[in-house]
Amino acid sequence: AKKSGKNRYLFFDEKMKEKFNDKINIENALRKALRNEDFLLLYQPIIETRTGYISSFEALLRIRGNDISPEEFIPIAEETGLILPIGKWVIKEAVKQISIWAEKGHRPLPVSINLSPRQFYDASLVEYISKILEDYGVDPSLLEIEITENTFAEKKHEIINILNRLKALGVVISLDDFGTGYSSLNYLTFMPIDKIKLDKSLKDKFIELESIKIMGRLIALVHGLNLKVVTEGVEEIEEFKRMKRAGSDYLQGYLFSKPIKQEEVEKIFNKNYMD
Ligand code: C2E
Ligand code: CA
Ligand code: CA
Ligand code: CA
Repeated sequence: AKKSGKNRYLFFDEKMKEKFNDKINIENALRKALRNEDFLLLYQPIIETRTGYISSFEALLRIRGNDISPEEFIPIAEETGLILPIGKWVIKEAVKQISIWAEKGHRPLPVSINLSPRQFYDASLVEYISKILEDYGVDPSLLEIEITENTFAEKKHEIINILNRLKALGVVISLDDFGTGYSSLNYLTFMPIDKIKLDKSLKDKFIELESIKIMGRLIALVHGLNLKVVTEGVEEIEEFKRMKRAGSDYLQGYLFSKPIKQEEVEKIFNKNYMD
């Protein structure tokens, strides 16, 4: 018994070491990507339910030539503080891309970027965003930001203030991952947001025929607060139909498109997903 106990301890120790090494490796990969500008944004279309046309794109971060997922590297970027320079790169790259598409004569479609809570503790965030928009001559209404409710965990009033300043510029704000965490409808009343994004897990929970009515009521309530609703993770045509009937204003998911490269985006700007 003693022996197996010791083995188990060793095994646990090895696992911890592995985890630790993974972390160091990812941190190194992030530093290297920053140095070499090896980050890349993919874009996933968000479809307007009513018309079937693309209403905006969500920018999603990748490391070039590396398949670690953001689910893995974003938390490490946050822990190490690397999310600050990485986040600035994301803001600049997205705005630059909007200006390139405009120059090429595409109809203007907003791009949303994800912001980590940590980025709101950077006192220069608002100035940085407004300067980048100005530098590239991009209308602020073409930039959207996605935040999670964790953003409000600390310094709630300061955060609200920053968001209001961004809104005053014309930047649109979405609450991401609604339905995970502690999100209560009560929350929605104080946050200066324009949209909520229903998390895939919430959609999955209420998509069944017996419960889709509850989804409809939830969406009606959110509309009552003057907020738009985006459904994430739509993978099947039946989900599309049900979420449409439930009143979701926008839909996003593999059914329409995975996140794709900028050059692929150019081919779908005017695509209609209901034809
Ligand atoms: P998120 O903001 O909730 O982004 C949606 C995630 O769902 C993306 O994963 C997207 O590829 C995936 N997705 C889209 N449609 C479907 C679908 O139909 N089915 C399924 N199963 N998944 C779908 P991704 O790109 O791996 O990003 C994961 C998370 O990493 C994001 O979740 C976001 O929290 C974070 N992230 C990504 N890029 C950035 C960034 O630039 N900055 C920050 N702070 N976080 C980022
Ligand atoms: Ca998001
Ligand atoms: Ca989300
Ligand atoms: Ca998510």
